[in-house]
Amino acid sequence: MKKILLLLLALSSITSYSQTDQEILKKIYSQSLTNGKSYEWLDYLSNQIGGRLSGSLQAELAVQWGKQELEKLGLDKVWLQEVMVPKWVRGAKEYAFIESSKKQTTNVNICALGGSVATNPLGLKAKVIEIQNFEELEKLGEAQINGKIVFYNRPMQEDLISTFNAYGGCVNQRYKGAVEAQKYGAVGVIVRSMTLRLDDLPHTGSMTYDNLPLQKRIPAAAISTNDAELLSASLKLDKDLEFYFKQSCSQFKDVLSYNVIGEITGSEFPKEYMVVGGHLDSWDLGDGSHDDGAGVVQSMEVLRLLKVSGIRPKRSIRVVLFMNEENGLRGGNKYAEEAKRKGENHVFALESDAGGFTPRGFSFDCSDANFNQVLSWKPLFQPYLIHYFEKGGSGADVGPLKTASNVLAGLRPDSQRYFDHHHAASDTFAAVNKRELELGAATMASLVYLFDTYGTNPLSKQSAVKN
Ligand SMILES: [Zn+2]
Repeated sequence: MKKILLLLLALSSITSYSQTDQEILKKIYSQSLTNGKSYEWLDYLSNQIGGRLSGSLQAELAVQWGKQELEKLGLDKVWLQEVMVPKWVRGAKEYAFIESSKKQTTNVNICALGGSVATNPLGLKAKVIEIQNFEELEKLGEAQINGKIVFYNRPMQEDLISTFNAYGGCVNQRYKGAVEAQKYGAVGVIVRSMTLRLDDLPHTGSMTYDNLPLQKRIPAAAISTNDAELLSASLKLDKDLEFYFKQSCSQFKDVLSYNVIGEITGSEFPKEYMVVGGHLDSWDLGDGSHDDGAGVVQSMEVLRLLKVSGIRPKRSIRVVLFMNEENGLRGGNKYAEEAKRKGENHVFALESDAGGFTPRGFSFDCSDANFNQVLSWKPLFQPYLIHYFEKGGSGADVGPLKTASNVLAGLRPDSQRYFDHHHAASDTFAAVNKRELELGAATMASLVYLFDTYGTNPLSKQSAVKN
């Protein structure tokens, strides 16, 4: 009997949305497009503060700015959550060239990967071995690799429609390339930039040495795609050429930083929490407008849009500006840890961290019962050309909040241009379109509104902790 009741309850929630919902979504979209704040906020964050690498002065300024702006929104609570973050500093601009065996040199564009050690102050020069993957490393072995710079040149796959999948197929070269090459005696690593475009911009990003002792760590840099092509072509003509690079980055002790949190406390179920967020830190080469200034201002805008659309949420809604997604995920982990310690029931969390481009929909990490409920809302989004509702990942920062019964989601904008800018000097305010950014914020606010109105699917609650 209990099962039948639950089933009926579940079905009723699966099939219902109302005309009121349609009207509210219309209001949310029109507020965002005619009276939005997201673009103005992004302008300040990008152009007045700039790139916000964890532990930097700019990251600190961004924290203060985020708190002040949330305070202006008249939320019920705004606070900072302490979190210790790594501090890596790039130092002087990197320098690199290819030197032919006849001693002719050609300058190329590189940047240190985040977390890399510096080269010797005079730089590092060695012969190069080009490879596509770790299997090749193993085949070549120490005999061919010892004393050389390993050049990882596997390009992103062009025929994948989601460029995130293409990125996923390549990024191990950047993340683990140094630690893998070091095993065979490599002295340095150069990685083809993670972009589908051929241009002169190197793209940074995080890397790991695992637990390798300091003295065994080899420097790692990204090279622009044009220069990766040049290096590859040059190697075919002259396998004895040498590559020179110099970088002076360094790793400092962890420093204190913060997640910035604002809350509208729920009127009926204050102990059911819904989170919307993006990450406040960014890489240092651009101003981090797409990654993830866009997600930050869209998340702030969600709470503002709900307010100006006259919605009084039943559940507590938090905006979280996470610190240190790029090179540590300390903020996301800290938020989830604290939520767990306090026994807070997070029913829903949505992250925007895929760029400020035209929204297409969402990916959901949840049970089938919850996913079916979400699918029932899909027609509501049709007028806004939002159609992508698929199961998949959510976002790095909200991922640690996962439970058996909650719903995690990620905004999925069009991804075709994202990796033109990702972690490169071209990730700037000028690359963000105002209306695309605003459509994303409205799309997020609409989903948050629907979860607030209907909650998660009761069927999913059978195995969940009662609140
Ligand atoms: Zn990001």
